Amino acid sequence: MNHALLFDEDFVAPNRAVLRGRRLKHIRSVLGASLGDQLPVGRVNGLMGSGEVIKLTDSEAELLVNLDQQPPSPLPLSLFLAMPRPKMFRRILQTSATLGIKDIWLINSYKVEKSFWQTPWLSDEHLQENLTLGLEQAKDTNMPKVHIRKLFKPFVEDELPSLLQGKVALVAHPGTATPCPTYLNKPAALCVGPEGGFTSYEVGKLEEAGCQGVHLGPRILRVETAVPVLVSRLFDACL
Ligand code: SAM
Repeated sequence: MNHALLFDEDFVAPNRAVLRGRRLKHIRSVLGASLGDQLPVGRVNGLMGSGEVIKLTDSEAELLVNLDQQPPSPLPLSLFLAMPRPKMFRRILQTSATLGIKDIWLINSYKVEKSFWQTPWLSDEHLQENLTLGLEQAKDTNMPKVHIRKLFKPFVEDELPSLLQGKVALVAHPGTATPCPTYLNKPAALCVGPEGGFTSYEVGKLEEAGCQGVHLGPRILRVETAVPVLVSRLFDACL
């Protein structure tokens, strides 16, 4: 946690917030905070700054908050991700939020097991929790939006083409002829397959919708590795 993300419900006055639970534990046991310390904070979908510890007990920390810095720019990327297995899902979600992706679409694919859609990690509460962890890691405040589409064909035929308008649209698929572009730095859409990959039928449908197949070389990467590698090729984080 490189800053604590504050939600509306944490504020007890316009410039005072109270932290409990995970964030309190982190402040006490990892940061070893004491009264008077300035801690990095950010308000969800708002500014970042610092919070002075003005009260600290076993059950809560009260911060006097001063927010005056913009969060980092969002990545102009829509990520269309075949629903990963639950064990990997949380990590991929957190990583996506840390990388600055704000528009995440969880889609179905032939090789997505039906049971993956039953995971409790898809509840609004757990999605927010994992996205928060990703934003706190990055020092960002803008909460990504997650959309869930459990049917591949209607989504790709009826919705995807309009979502790709004005964007460079890519589907990462090993063995395709075109290497993934580098330093694109313009609005893009990226489809990433499941553990077993997209089928050739699915790649064909994604191409029909407007995506171009791209590869990352001969090594097959896990989804959790492929996403950051793709993002760092497409967008220069140092700009
Ligand atoms: N056996 C599967 C295949 O050949 O498609 C491997 C799937 S890989 C574990 C999961 C996803 O990560 C792929 O569907 C693709 O989107 C992305 N990916 C991993 N390695 C890649 C590579 N070398 N080139 C392009 N995409 C890759």
